[in-house]
Amino acid sequence: MPRPIEALVHVEALAHNLSRARAAAPDARVWAVVKANAYGHGIERVFEGLRGADGFALLDLAEAERVRALGWRGPVLLLEGCFEPRDLELCSRLGLWHVVHAAHQIDWLAAHKTQQPHRVFLKMNSGMNRLGLQPSAFRAAWTRLNALPQVDEITLMTHFSDADGPRGVAHQVAAFEAATHDLPGERSLSNSAATLVGGDAPDPTRPAVRSDWVRAGILSYGSAPDHPTRSARDWGLHPAMTLRTRLIATQDLAPGDTVGYGSTYTATRPMRIGIAACGYADGYPRHCGSGTPVLVQGVRCATVGRVSMDMLAVDLTPVPSAGVGSEVTLWGEGPEGARLDIDEVAQAAGTIGYELMCALAARVPVRVVP
Ligand SMILES: *Cc1c(COP(=O)(O)O)cnc(C)c1O
Repeated sequence: MPRPIEALVHVEALAHNLSRARAAAPDARVWAVVKANAYGHGIERVFEGLRGADGFALLDLAEAERVRALGWRGPVLLLEGCFEPRDLELCSRLGLWHVVHAAHQIDWLAAHKTQQPHRVFLKMNSGMNRLGLQPSAFRAAWTRLNALPQVDEITLMTHFSDADGPRGVAHQVAAFEAATHDLPGERSLSNSAATLVGGDAPDPTRPAVRSDWVRAGILSYGSAPDHPTRSARDWGLHPAMTLRTRLIATQDLAPGDTVGYGSTYTATRPMRIGIAACGYADGYPRHCGSGTPVLVQGVRCATVGRVSMDMLAVDLTPVPSAGVGSEVTLWGEGPEGARLDIDEVAQAAGTIGYELMCALAARVPVRVVP
């Protein structure tokens, strides 16, 4: 028998989360962001659940080929654009739309031979200082692109640094608006946080963000972009990934007994612990200290001691009936409607849900379920 660990990808949850993006941005088209192998879920595995999107946004050319290989004929957007001139040949061949974030990419386009002009997303650096042209250089770049026979439509784009936090997006929206208000074309501004925050729970202190194309990343996978301010439940999102395993042993501890490497946990009372077949080599974060939530038979429990490579220990006090073979949910959907947000586990590890889902290890078998 294989190790009992497995991950589930929930098709219905993906489709549901996409509908949440549509509800929050009813006038916009929705990119399902599937970079990083669909945030660790697997592009082929999420395709069924997300095929109701208006397009797929990603950044790896091999991933774009995989989306086309699935039979998707609609829009595919390269979020970082081309990395070298010959990438443009693949864009022409596969009909990929691509971001232009810097002048060198315009030079490449100007030298590119293509029958079919390209749809490009011209990106402004409105304050994030990662990718994009400065507002002062944006108009000249637009004018140059617009004159190229290789270019068809130009969408104006920027990316927010603080849509999920107290600083908000107003300063970036203002910079973007000032430099683009009289330029034609569609706009793409909002990531998950901006889509949700500006959607059905709008904050009157924040400006409305016009986005013809919203870029739904983390929300598609059922994690809250602004956790712990709000939870996935608050946003009406469903987890797209479950990581689950079983107990493979139990131990009875006396006061003074310690658990695991480094003896970081000491029992202060007689207690029973369970050993779950999941460790950091499966993608479970080693930085989770004692007290990280975990479900055993759907009952909320807490880890004790350090996470090791293949195992972790759980205090079974809340669920005395548990034993070898009991189901353990590390995150996602547990039995009988129980649920554990990946964001809570991420918080215990000092990180965000994004990192945990992307880090699911290759050795964990994954099943797609309805
Ligand atoms: C990853 C990415 C997104 C999606 O961000 P989420 O926070 O996951 O919604 C949107 N836009 C760009 C440019 C990205 O790189």
